[in-house]
Amino acid sequence: MKTIIGTSVEEAVHWLKRGEPVALPTETVYGLAAPLFSEETIRKIYSVKQRPANNPLIVHVLNFEQLSEIAETTPLVQALTEWFWPGPLTLVLKKKACVSNLVTAEQTSVAVRCPQASLFRQAIVLTGEPLVAPSANRFQHVSPTTAMHVLNDLGGRIPYILDGGACTFGLESTILSLLDEAQPTLLRYGPIATEVLEAFLKRPLITPSGVISEQKPHLSPGLYKKHYSPQTPLYLVGNLADYVPPSRYKEIFEAHAAHVFLFPPSRPLREEECVLSPNRDLNEAASNLFDCLQTLDTQGWQSIWTEAAPNEGIGRALNDRLTRAAHVDLRD
Ligand code: AMP
Ligand code: MG
Repeated sequence: MKTIIGTSVEEAVHWLKRGEPVALPTETVYGLAAPLFSEETIRKIYSVKQRPANNPLIVHVLNFEQLSEIAETTPLVQALTEWFWPGPLTLVLKKKACVSNLVTAEQTSVAVRCPQASLFRQAIVLTGEPLVAPSANRFQHVSPTTAMHVLNDLGGRIPYILDGGACTFGLESTILSLLDEAQPTLLRYGPIATEVLEAFLKRPLITPSGVISEQKPHLSPGLYKKHYSPQTPLYLVGNLADYVPPSRYKEIFEAHAAHVFLFPPSRPLREEECVLSPNRDLNEAASNLFDCLQTLDTQGWQSIWTEAAPNEGIGRALNDRLTRAAHVDLRD
């Protein structure tokens, strides 16, 4: 199949209506979209991504009204959506009967988000129904933040990639489960910081307890240990500036290794070094992370060495993705 990169929402929707999933830009990462009520097209998402059928998909809606057609809402849900939508917050709620088990991996809950990105919103309007959209990459690959990333990973498998430039946040949405409102639970760290949600809800969140078994069907695929991984082995360290590797990693650290700083070091960069945020801003670092990993992956390095972020705000989401991408975590 020939894959075209273009800028026409109408053309993207034309393919959706013909039963073909297409890649659409959101403010988090590029999504591989299908209409919520087209099972045939949704099945193709799973085969294009090579995604196991036990991984549920996120449904994208225009507003609270569209949400209430597919999920049970409460005053707390309404308050959260009024404050955080449109934006990168996904809510896990009890589903209504119209939502297929194919979307929810046989669960009685559904994950729903309301995107900010205007091209994606236009696509929902023109399709006339919500769109399901996991990230537009093959299972366990790094999520795409540009149309070219999608082409590199899914080229030949989908007919159309709608190009909306680089994604603003560059990390997948924060996922909050409200299945038990007495115990709101964070399922995935993301651009909406834990502290911000806790302040809004006026209580501490239960946070992701780390790794889940690859067999369990129920939890968030975003919690799989191996997720977001580049092909090149990635080593995660606390601070790269004066880093001295343990003796058994010395050779790897020096043999054609790329070094990724969070912020610029106080000396000129060497050829093998790059910086996630020239402006010393964690949001900028987060938005550049996946692009940086994808680029380094194509440059033939033998290993990638990255430093962790401070564990606050979006830094938590950044560290979460780095931990899952890491071949070896050498932080102490
Ligand atoms: P992605 O493939 O990156 O778009 O990831 C989709 C995310 O949505 C995964 O991390 C899923 O776990 C999450 N998700 C979708 N539906 C549910 C659900 N019913 N319960 C919990 N997480 C869900
Ligand atoms: Mg994904």
